[in-house]
Amino acid sequence: MSLHHLPHHPGTAGIAVVLGTRPELVKLAPLIHELGPAARLVHTGQHWDEAMSGRFLRELDLPEPELLTGVGGRPRAGQIAAALDQLDTAFAADQPAAVVVQGDTNATLAGALAANARGIPLVHVEAGLRSHDRAMPEEHNRVMVDHIADLLCAATEANSAQLRAESLPAERIAPTGNTVVEVVRRQLPGSRARAALLARHGLTADRYVLATVHRPENTDTADALGAVPAGLDQIARAGTPVLFPMHPRTRAAVDRHGLTPLVGRLADADPVGYADFLGLARHAALLVSDSGGVQEECTVLGRPLLVVRRSTERPEAIDTGFAVLVQPGPELGAVAGEWLSDTPQRLSRLAGTPSPYGDGLASARIARLTAALAGSTALAA
Ligand code: UDP
Repeated sequence: MSLHHLPHHPGTAGIAVVLGTRPELVKLAPLIHELGPAARLVHTGQHWDEAMSGRFLRELDLPEPELLTGVGGRPRAGQIAAALDQLDTAFAADQPAAVVVQGDTNATLAGALAANARGIPLVHVEAGLRSHDRAMPEEHNRVMVDHIADLLCAATEANSAQLRAESLPAERIAPTGNTVVEVVRRQLPGSRARAALLARHGLTADRYVLATVHRPENTDTADALGAVPAGLDQIARAGTPVLFPMHPRTRAAVDRHGLTPLVGRLADADPVGYADFLGLARHAALLVSDSGGVQEECTVLGRPLLVVRRSTERPEAIDTGFAVLVQPGPELGAVAGEWLSDTPQRLSRLAGTPSPYGDGLASARIARLTAALAGSTALAA
């Protein structure tokens, strides 16, 4: 069935796209555009504010979502339970022909469980990622969602192989590529806008570091929280400016632990919008981040990345030479110093290295497969 046969108007089924955080908005945007009027956006409200959602909805030209209430700011189980309960009520009133979720957040798991509870076909975008780190709630979310999904959209061959190794049937697995490739290509500002952006921040192309951190392993305790800024401070003291747009979770933890002096030498900023982030990342001599999305974006932008994490579910960026895992603190400062010392050679090597995440057509493939899945059950019903 083609997408044109699945229009969504209030009171009709459509394809529910359930999301709740910034990276889901970013990476589902091109798929939502492909789905067109069939897409029915449901936002759990996990990160619901202007800086983390509102401006992303506008910038990415997304339709107004149905918004759940009382989900954000609670412990994990409470978030999942609150979202699940409201999704079930919404799906009972107006059952979608399929549910799409992406990644590994609590919203992803809640959306998947809501589809499962009502026997609605479930599509998991970015299936088969594994950090094998059971201390990360995201690892549990992605494993659970993969095992109940009907269509597993695998971004890379390694992701497909992982799903097969877990005995998931081959007919549920589709190699699609990652939608990040097309969203970066579409949202990256043009060269003049990027030059103006750098001028606004007082930065020179290829001569600064852009850093983001927000994962619990880097923010939960005062020691962990101090380690990344200490490494960044070492970089700044050695003469390379560091721009550090702080995630709200990180900002709150820095304030709570009284660590503001540690970020004193850094160009501390609030989180920026998506186009600005891509524009700044595109010209950074080095990126430092614990973000999942940035590990993919760096391969499309051709920029080197130090991943400040114990483990990663995205080894592709490391295997292709874009990224390396480093310990926050002195190791971060030392590796950054080394990488910054041969910036021109590294940048020219990376400029010639293709992204391992696909060809820019992932969303079109996923939209076609989703429509077929939704159509086949609609016809069978
Ligand atoms: N990002 C952004 N503005 C910022 C920092 C990050 O738009 O100030 C984007 C970044 O490009 C990536 C996404 O937000 O696409 C990553 O979000 P986050 O780090 O919250 O989540 P993760 O990718 O780790 O799941």
